[in-house]
Amino acid sequence: MISIRNIIKRYRQKTVLKDLTLNIEKGKITAIIGPNGSGKSTLLSIISRLKDCDSGEVFLDKRSLKAYNSKELAKHLAILRQSNYINLKITVAELVAFGRFPHSQGRLSVDDHDKIEQALHYMELKTIKDRFLNELSGGQIQRAFIAMTLAQDTDYILLDEPLNNLDMKHSVQIMQILRRLVKDFNKTIILVIHDINFASCYADNIIALKEGKIIANGTVDEVVKEDILSEIYDMPIKIETYQGRKICNYFDPQEQVHLSNSTLPINK
Ligand code: ADP
Ligand code: MG
Repeated sequence: MISIRNIIKRYRQKTVLKDLTLNIEKGKITAIIGPNGSGKSTLLSIISRLKDCDSGEVFLDKRSLKAYNSKELAKHLAILRQSNYINLKITVAELVAFGRFPHSQGRLSVDDHDKIEQALHYMELKTIKDRFLNELSGGQIQRAFIAMTLAQDTDYILLDEPLNNLDMKHSVQIMQILRRLVKDFNKTIILVIHDINFASCYADNIIALKEGKIIANGTVDEVVKEDILSEIYDMPIKIETYQGRKICNYFDPQEQVHLSNSTLPINK
């Protein structure tokens, strides 16, 4: 379990996480949702110790994050950050092999090679494993980065907007793989996701943030509610149930979403 206790994070004068306290269950998929700038990436960075917080503490399996050395932490927790710009001439397989670094220290064992092959297979990258990253599409690069994160083979997997750049088939495929990792290996997955229907259909729990505060935190059934989502996103959202799943509909062309004038590209 990850316990987050009274986390406050400021950037200069601005407080972007406002005293967050919550638990993230082990062996589940937890989706973090919320509008742009609500603090999702900052929260993920603090949980993975990529960023410090101004006050509060995070516990991983009841042990303070501060008590882990970097190598040890990398064996427990892997994070894929939001933007992965890479300008190195390396192949997909070489990138995925980086995920083994905390285990191999650069010398790959048979077990490391197995984990790399497995991750390439999961992500349907075997046919392009020897291609260079700079020759690939955004979606293929994204899948290679996810494969690298999976190859790290940690109990906790944190993914910041992993579905970015992916078409529908690959988005569904990734969510199915994540479900399988939870079911077969009891992994704990925390991901930031923009499409609330992916969160609704594939996550167990949802944390909803707005302006650095938790608006809702609970199971999909507890959080996917019209009043909660409409408040978070500041727009009307209708929910329908289809085959037992809650589907959010925010595509009503009759509804006017409020946009401030400055965001409208008006040609005078
Ligand atoms: P989200 O991932 O939900 O879009 P972020 O966690 O990236 O939100 O950002 C939360 C807020 O913190 C935003 O207002 C953003 O502009 C601000 N912010 C993020 N990173 C920095 C930084 N390095 N310096 C200053 N402000 C930042
Ligand atoms: Mg973000």
